[in-house]
Amino acid sequence: MNKTFISVLIPSYNESENILAIYHALKEEFSQKIDRYEILFIDDGSTDQSLEIMKELALHHPEVKYIALTRNFGKEAAMFAGLKHAKGDAAIIMDADLQHPVSLVHTLIEGYKEGYEQVIAQRNRTGDSYIRSKLSSLYYRLLEKLVDVKLKDGQGDFRLLSRNAIDAILEIGERNRFSKGLFSWIGFKQKVIKYDNTDRKAGKSKWSFKKLIDYGIEGVVSFNHKPLRLCLYTGVATFLLGIFFITVMFIKILFNGISVPGYFTTISSVLFLGGAQLFSLGVIGEYIGRIYVETKHRPHYLIEDTNTVEEIVYAKEQG
Ligand code: UDP
Ligand code: MG
Repeated sequence: MNKTFISVLIPSYNESENILAIYHALKEEFSQKIDRYEILFIDDGSTDQSLEIMKELALHHPEVKYIALTRNFGKEAAMFAGLKHAKGDAAIIMDADLQHPVSLVHTLIEGYKEGYEQVIAQRNRTGDSYIRSKLSSLYYRLLEKLVDVKLKDGQGDFRLLSRNAIDAILEIGERNRFSKGLFSWIGFKQKVIKYDNTDRKAGKSKWSFKKLIDYGIEGVVSFNHKPLRLCLYTGVATFLLGIFFITVMFIKILFNGISVPGYFTTISSVLFLGGAQLFSLGVIGEYIGRIYVETKHRPHYLIEDTNTVEEIVYAKEQG
């Protein structure tokens, strides 16, 4: 079993300060064990020197592969590209910024050798700001109620996938990809390994507040129709409430005649109904937008340059 071939996939967007560091860290780790490996960098349209550094590395080290996308397609697309080109018996997905401890690589591989198809590294939230960690845990609690797949706070993209799991993920062709959900959706025998959260080594996080919110919405709507159901319930509830209100008013009018005041009730029902309708329309719009994107069947990403086509497989000698 020592000859397991591992692909390490590293989606990178403007990570010029980290690429050499993560390469050396991985090389150091792998040199202690006798697994065969390739390190596949996916350059997600970086505007800095990332790609040049990858190419330079690849020139001298046959185990280094790179795929350069034609522009920034986002981490989801970059991971998809990586999985598609991974040649290993298993693939480990990790960030370029060294936030995912390289030292865990062997523990992940051990899990794989024990027969697990997904070995998931779960981080805690040490070092995260109080507000961010509270908001995240609130979000995950909400998500648990809203979606059908199991999502755990701290379980992200840092994980090992067996060949079976990779093929399963690749088979899911959807464009709006929420990988956390997809990983959970495919199932398979899973093992969880915990680790302490660390700060990014260099450079800046690519997540703005708006991107986080968008990602959050993606998580909710990409896995089921429950929000649509919620609109339906709200609709029915307001409809019944309206009927009740009209009946009461009508009976009152029958007994007391029409009285002019009614500004408060009118304005509140207009505001309430208007709000409920806009909210529902927004939810429906989210789904229609996704249908629109899916029906176009555009590729997930486009490749500008790569060295993965030539089948150079790096095998480290035993010992
Ligand atoms: N990333 C990417 N494309 C993007 C944004 C990010 O490939 O459009 C990569 C990034 O280079 C890093 C990983 O995804 O390797 C995680 O990004 P980041 O560290 O910014 O996210 P965070 O750790 O803050 O969640
Ligand atoms: Mg990071």
